[in-house]
Amino acid sequence: MSIDLGRNVPLQIQRQLRKECFFGCAMCGSPLVKYAHIVTYSKIQAFLPENMIPLCPLHYGKYDTGELSESYLRDAKKNPHNKLQPQDAFFIDTQELAINVGKTKFINTYRILVIDDFDLITVTRDNGKYFLFDVNFFDKVNNMIATVSENNWVSEKSMDWNIDYSPRKYLIIQNPQRNITFEITLENTELFVTAMMYYNSSSIRVTRNEISLDENEIGIEIKNSVLKNYDAAIVAYT
Ligand SMILES: [Zn+2]
Repeated sequence: MSIDLGRNVPLQIQRQLRKECFFGCAMCGSPLVKYAHIVTYSKIQAFLPENMIPLCPLHYGKYDTGELSESYLRDAKKNPHNKLQPQDAFFIDTQELAINVGKTKFINTYRILVIDDFDLITVTRDNGKYFLFDVNFFDKVNNMIATVSENNWVSEKSMDWNIDYSPRKYLIIQNPQRNITFEITLENTELFVTAMMYYNSSSIRVTRNEISLDENEIGIEIKNSVLKNYDAAIVAYT
């Protein structure tokens, strides 16, 4: 079993749409989005940027059930939330990017969590400013059940996910049934990552105090350090 990535929107079009909507859902500004066709794909049979709009999973759900009319979507595309409320986008414009994982601070290090040479969490920035996430979610028996790829959210339809964005404060992705949490918080121009995830049937827990793999603390040798320009932050093997 694996997730159906469906019709992948070409990355170039994703980037164009993200930029056009100021790096967030056109309705609420959340950085995590899906790309909706204003006139349905079945009618158009093509990826036309002028017919597409980024929407967070919540607003995509409303679009999917037909609650958002074509004219409403076209208005939102013209005047997206983050254009009207630029402070609601998820960004920092500092030159260096500091990301705290456990008790270690990483500067300008983007591959945050690498298990068995597989990237579980990567954080970069779009236009040198807006956070861009790549996160892969597996269940306890190593099925990939959701993924964030350059902020594009894809998940198994049958699963219940809670996604919560508080403007410029935090982004939380949770699946309580599967005991999965990914949380990224912005405090005083620094990011803090906490998570409960799985890979290769091992559990990975990241708190503000420690990182553990199958209940064993890892990264002890770099605890309380500040590390700059590393290839990868937390690297471990199951
Ligand atoms: Zn939204």
